Parts: sequence; structure tokens; C-alpha cells
Amino acid sequence: MSVLLIAEVSKGKVKKASLEACNYAAKIATQFNTSVTALYFGIAEAAVLSELGKAGAKKVLHCKNEKLFNHDSRLMTLAIEQAVNAESADVVIFSHDFTSKAVAPRLAARLKAGFVPAAVDYPVIEGTNFSVKKNVFSGKAVADYSILSAKKIIALLPNSFPVSLTEGNAEIVDFAVNLDGVESKIVIKEVKKESNELSLPEAELVVSAGRGMKGPENWGMIEDLAKSLGAATACSRPVSDIGWRPHHEHVGQTGIAIRPNLYIAVGISGAIQHLAGVNGSKTIVVINKDAEAPFFKAADYGVLGDAFEIVPKLTAAFKKMKASQQG
Ligand code: FAD
Repeated sequence: MSVLLIAEVSKGKVKKASLEACNYAAKIATQFNTSVTALYFGIAEAAVLSELGKAGAKKVLHCKNEKLFNHDSRLMTLAIEQAVNAESADVVIFSHDFTSKAVAPRLAARLKAGFVPAAVDYPVIEGTNFSVKKNVFSGKAVADYSILSAKKIIALLPNSFPVSLTEGNAEIVDFAVNLDGVESKIVIKEVKKESNELSLPEAELVVSAGRGMKGPENWGMIEDLAKSLGAATACSRPVSDIGWRPHHEHVGQTGIAIRPNLYIAVGISGAIQHLAGVNGSKTIVVINKDAEAPFFKAADYGVLGDAFEIVPKLTAAFKKMKASQQG
């Protein structure tokens, strides 16, 4: 038996969320007296993949089959199933992201495995009981899910735990999958690169804005504030739906779920669907001109007033603070 981790690489580095999931997988493997094998599809240097060894993996399967490079969830499922069989894995760990949302349910059906998405804690393993905590009702409650099947799949909600790296080493081996006769039904027409230098799911600081900004022409103010802090930018759903901001910035129930150390929400009302994606943030600051805005109830700090007056002042204050720290 082993624990299989599905790893992802972005901008030449193993994603922070994958390192976190690798730590998580290693802790489960220890309880079962076994080890973690990571699986990665794509092109990456061995030196990059060896980071997974520092996060607890003993082996990394590197799969370079080009059929898997277009993120076809059907093909990825078949490939992961082959890795599960090759490694006799009983537990498969993903990070809870777009890949796991598309692939893990298919994999669960093929392996007849129980699947817990968006887990927030380590499983409790007592005898045959294997239960995992996950947030429910848009983060308003936590439920314990027992997995009764022999094979188990968990997708860990990013930023549930800090990442811990040691001196560990992983053996990196090429992994050939057999996808003969299986063709992708997906055609990639265009690849749009994220303009954000900082990846939103990985960011520790996030400045987010909503319909209160009135229009896309006013986003310079939000970008300036984010830049003064070294933060990533995000937005509410209507803002990306109208096309004021790109879709990859949309956070919430139907967008990305983030858990940064600091989330500054500007001109966002705080609807429950928005909160579902951000209420795990360590500190929430809300800037809104309506004292009745529901977001104030979820805020650690609330600033009541016009964002068009407050945001530039805040940016100037952060810049001044930074300059005084450097000087
Ligand atoms: P509004 O609700 O219009 O709020 C704008 C806010 O700006 C107001 O509170 C106003 O007081 C404030 N404001 C206006 N002018 C200023 C100013 N000058 N200074 C300061 N404050 C100002 N939404 C998401 O965000 N993410 C999701 O994932 C998501 N999923 C959804 C899923 C479903 C099934 C449904 C039905 C809805 C979903 N929504 C989601 C939409 C959600 O219900 C809200 O409609 C949306 O979050 C509201 O966006 P907003 O706060 O930007 O806009």
C-alpha cells in the first residue's frame, strides 16, 4: 500500500498547495506505515520535482506523455488510475483546485473510492474508521465524512496547514502511461497566461474589489494598493462576469477559494456566495460605504466610507511605511 499525491508545477516551481498536500500525504502515510509517491504530468526539471522530496515524498513519478498536457480530465483519470495500480496506492491526495474538481470525481467512480473534496484537517484513522473533516454550507459548518471504501481520495483545501520542508530526498523516475487508442476530445484553441505575477491561490495578501468600483477604469487604484503591499488582486463574480476583470480573479463559491493571511475587500457587499471563497482568510478588512453591508459581520476590521477616498490614502500610507522601513 502507498499514498499517491497528484502534484502540480507552475512558473518553474512546485505549487505551494502541492507541497502542502505532500506534507499532508506524508502524515497519512506515516500512520499507515508506508510512503508517499508523487505523480506529475508535464515538463519539469528534476531539481524542481525534488522539492517534493523535501515535502515528504519518497518517489516522484514523472509522466511526460504529451496527450496529458492539455488537462483532459478523462485522460488524466486513466493515467492516475494506472499510477494507483502501479504503486498499489489505497489513498490518493489532491490539492482542492480546478484539476481535482475535474479529475477526482471521475477517478473515484473508476476506483469505487470514497472522495472528500475540500478537506480541512487530517483524517482520523481508528481501526477501520477513516473520517475526514470538510467545510459545509459555504463554510458555516464543519462535517465529518467517513470513507468506508478500500480506496480513498481526499482533496485538501489549500492553506489549511503551513508548508514544512526538510532535507528529504525523492527518487525521480519516468512513468510511462498507456493511452494507446484513447484520444483527447479537447482541442485547445488559445492559451491565456495569467497577467498576475502573483498566483492568487498561493498569495498571502490579497486586495479584492467588487461592483462598488463602478467600472474597469477605476481598477488602477486597486492595483496600486495591491502593489504597495505586494498583494495579488481578486474580484467578486459580477465583476468578472461583466468583463471588468479576468475570470481567474473571481473568488467565491463558484470561483477560487482562497485563505490568505490578509484579505482586503473594497466595494464588495459580502454575499454568502462570495464569503464562501474567502472566509478562511486569517484577517479580513472591509472597505464599504454602506454600514449595513453584510461583509462587515465577517470583517476583523471595517472601514466605513467611500473607497475612492480611502483606497488612495491607504496606498500612500503603505508606501510611506515601506519607504521608512527601507530608509
Ligand atoms: P454588489 O452586491 O452590487 O455590492 C457592491 C458593494 O459596493 C455594496 O455593498 C456597496 O455598498 C459598495 N459600494 C458602492 N460604492 C462604493 C464606494 N464608492 N465605496 C465603498 N463601497 C461602495 N459572487 C461572488 O463574488 N463569488 C461567487 O463565487 C459567487 N457565486 C455565486 C453563485 C450563485 C449560485 C449565485 C446565485 C450567486 C453567486 N455570486 C457570487 C453572486 C453574489 O450573490 C453577489 O451577487 C455578488 O457577490 C455581489 O458582488 P459585489 O459585492 O461586487 O456587488
